[in-house]
Amino acid sequence: MSREFEILPLGSTIGILGGGQLGRMLAMAAARLGLKTHIYSPNALCPAADVANYISVGEYEDTNAIIDFAKACDVITYEFENVPAVTAKTAASEAPLRPNARALDVAQDRLTEKSFLRAQAGVEVAGFEDIDNEFALKRALKRLGYPAVLKTRRFGYDGKGQIIIRKDSEVKAAWNSLGKQDLIVEAFIPFVREVSVIAARGMDGTCRAYPLTENTHQNHILHTSIAPAPRDNGKAQEIAFKILKKLDYIGVMGVEFFELQDGSLIVNEIAPRVHNSGHWTQDGGCVDQFEQHIRAVAGWPLGDTTPAHTVTMTNLIGDDILDWPKIAIEANARLHIYGKKDIRPGRKMGHVNRMTRN
Ligand code: AMP
Repeated sequence: MSREFEILPLGSTIGILGGGQLGRMLAMAAARLGLKTHIYSPNALCPAADVANYISVGEYEDTNAIIDFAKACDVITYEFENVPAVTAKTAASEAPLRPNARALDVAQDRLTEKSFLRAQAGVEVAGFEDIDNEFALKRALKRLGYPAVLKTRRFGYDGKGQIIIRKDSEVKAAWNSLGKQDLIVEAFIPFVREVSVIAARGMDGTCRAYPLTENTHQNHILHTSIAPAPRDNGKAQEIAFKILKKLDYIGVMGVEFFELQDGSLIVNEIAPRVHNSGHWTQDGGCVDQFEQHIRAVAGWPLGDTTPAHTVTMTNLIGDDILDWPKIAIEANARLHIYGKKDIRPGRKMGHVNRMTRN
């Protein structure tokens, strides 16, 4: 049997590229399963450092440091999608990288992502065009119509790097603001709600998904997720499975959708990692997304994704965290705090899962 298909024994070490709150919660899940974690992060005081077994501090571009880290791990995963391609490749030369580098490649660039989703996975995405000058933008807008959304191809998150264009007179300002980067323009989708699915694929090819999650955003940042969402016809999970299979993916993925009036779904984006809209699973009475990801990358069987009750997850952003003493005494509420020292506006400091007994 090749090393790629080994089941990791108890006590093995999972390397995690990135040390944020997702890495922290992955490390806690791994510890519960008798596995060790080794974090790689440029920041020695990152949230995951408090709970992992080992930490290597280095820049992602430091090839020698990445090689040393990878040699100390039995398998390597990542908790954010902007791991540089060269880092992923270097790490993968020393230990299995799960999910694979192709998943990173697809998810890092909105043009590659949307092209893959449409042409290879065969799923619906918003109409889009690749833009490299103002004239091309004007031409694309003629085809796509107004409103449309101009987005940077890379490093956009929480609404950063995107502008809605509603009429001809707004084109120049939008181009002047974002035009120095590689861009795409997308048709604006008149969605009735935003939903997501957290799905996983194991080493044996088994796919499992959690029930649909309904998400609301404030200031472009996820604020609340409710799961199981009202109205779940199983279509989102089918779409997620198609994507997982097409990428030969191992691990947990978050897939975000726009739902239209007629119930049809359009994929907005994929996250090749555990996802904020899956935090409710920690208190859903099922195997949570963090354990599921650890199980998948360790070659273990996937766990049960059926929740025992409804959960509403609310992010604690910036000063919201100061309310923790009030939340701590609420019935049926579970606090998850990331251990970040400095409170900043827009910074995710923790979340609370409120359970509704069915
Ligand atoms: P994104 O960074 O692509 O996830 O976009 C952030 C948010 O902007 C989404 O959650 C939507 O609320 C909104 N948005 C992005 N793209 C579109 C679109 N094509 N049509 C309508 N709303 C969009």
